Amino acid sequence: MNEKDRIINDLVIANRILANENVVDAYGHISIRNPENPNTFFLARSLAPELVTADDIVELDLDGNPVNEESRSLYLERFIHAAILKARPEVLSTVHAHAEDILPYGIANGTPLRPVIHSGSFIGSNVPVWDIADKFGDTNLLVSNMDQADDLAKTLADNNVALMRGHGFASAAKSLIEAVRMAVYLPRNARALSAALQLGGDVKSLSQGEIDARNRGYKPYSPETWRAWEYWATKCGCNHMLVKGDDDSK
Ligand code: MN
Repeated sequence: MNEKDRIINDLVIANRILANENVVDAYGHISIRNPENPNTFFLARSLAPELVTADDIVELDLDGNPVNEESRSLYLERFIHAAILKARPEVLSTVHAHAEDILPYGIANGTPLRPVIHSGSFIGSNVPVWDIADKFGDTNLLVSNMDQADDLAKTLADNNVALMRGHGFASAAKSLIEAVRMAVYLPRNARALSAALQLGGDVKSLSQGEIDARNRGYKPYSPETWRAWEYWATKCGCNHMLVKGDDDSK
C-alpha cells in the first residue's frame, strides 16, 4: 500500500471511529493533509462519517476547492479544514464536530473549557471561543466560505482546539491519530469539568507542567498510542483495515 492509499485508509478508519465514539453523527468531519502535496488535503464528500469508504474521499486545495472534477456534493463547512491547514503548516489533521458535551462552554461566558483530566491534556491549556457573529453578524452559524474559516483559524491561533459559539469545535493536530484521540477525549474532559462544576467549589485544572509532561515525546506509533487506535478501530469493526505506519510517516 503506498503512502497516499495508507493515509486514505486511515482517514476512513478515523471517520468510523469518530462516529462510533459519538463525536460525530450525521454531521462533523475529519481531514488529513496530503503527504505528497502539503497544499492539498483529503476529506470525505458530503456523507455521514459512519458511511465513509475510500471511494468517498475527495482531495481539496487550501481554498476548499476540489482538485479534480467532482460532481458529488461536498461538505458545506470544508473551508474550516482548508483555513486551519493553510494557517498552520505543522498541522496534518483537523476535526470539526458538534459534540454535545462541549457546547455549554461555547455559550456560557466566563466558564472556559480547560483540561482537568489526564486525557484532557491533549486539548492544551487555552481553548478560545470563536463567535461567528463578532465579524459576520447574523448568519446560519455555518462556516460556509473562506473569509469565515480564516477568521476561525485566526481565533484558533496556535491552540489545539477552538470552540464555536452555539455550534461545536474545530481542532488541529500533528497527526491523524492525535486528531482522533483529542476529539474522543475532548467531550470526556468537558463532562468531567461540567460534573465538577455542579459539585460546587473550586475546580482544579491540570497545571501547565502536567499538560507539558503529557504531551512531551509523543509518537503516533508508540505502543501506547497504537493501543488506543487499535482499540477504537476494532470497536467500530475496522480491525481488518489496520495498517501500522512508522513515526516518520504520520
Ligand atoms: Mn458544523
